[in-house]
Amino acid sequence: MLDAIRNWRIRRLVARRPIPEAAWQRALRHCGPARRMGGSDQASLRVLATLFLDQKSLEPVQGLELGEIDRVLLAVHACVPILKLGIDWYEGWHSVIVYPDAFIPNRTRTDAAGVVHQDHAALAGEAWGRGPVILSWSDVLAIGRRPGSNVVIHEMAHKLDMLNGSANGFPPLHRRMERRTWTETFSRVWDRLQDAHDQGLELPIDPYALTNPAEFFAVASEQFFEAPAALREHLPDVHRQLVQFYRQEPV
Ligand SMILES: [Zn+2]
Repeated sequence: MLDAIRNWRIRRLVARRPIPEAAWQRALRHCGPARRMGGSDQASLRVLATLFLDQKSLEPVQGLELGEIDRVLLAVHACVPILKLGIDWYEGWHSVIVYPDAFIPNRTRTDAAGVVHQDHAALAGEAWGRGPVILSWSDVLAIGRRPGSNVVIHEMAHKLDMLNGSANGFPPLHRRMERRTWTETFSRVWDRLQDAHDQGLELPIDPYALTNPAEFFAVASEQFFEAPAALREHLPDVHRQLVQFYRQEPV
């Protein structure tokens, strides 16, 4: 019964505030993972993006203006990781703050638990435990220029990671997943990558992944959606864990 009411609410929302076709097509052109989905997954993603826009507050700052097309584009990227998880996985926070460009974070706020960030000086994105996601719009628009990377998916992966506490590369796993397998897999591969990096070898993943376990999970998640075949080829064990976590079909 609850599900029926919920589904009715969703249908009503989608009917009232549908994503315009032009905005949807623009988002598909920009978002590789969405473009590569089958028709029914795209339909689910479109509903999720509608819910995301209804539930989250997109807040451009510093003179930035975001039109409907921009907002849809952002929502579509944001909902890629939860395609098979559902919008409930983004519960507990409300705002997406969008700077025009890479931003210098206000470090007086670092006292709050669970701050994670993508860079040291100017950031492309940041996600706070139970707080906002912060993004640089120019970095959102740059998605697709560097294969395998996606700042929105990166920050959303931190949000999923923080559902069970601090960002530590250990999101809440599904019932049939083994915690030990997850931890062992990510630690073992992380050690191997670190060794390769120390030897000056080129890594099959953005070396930023080696910052800490949280960044490893976030960077691996980017590649999982943006370049799944490469991740499966080079880091098959990590890929297998992410297939289970994101409930995706193997590529
Ligand atoms: Zn990060």
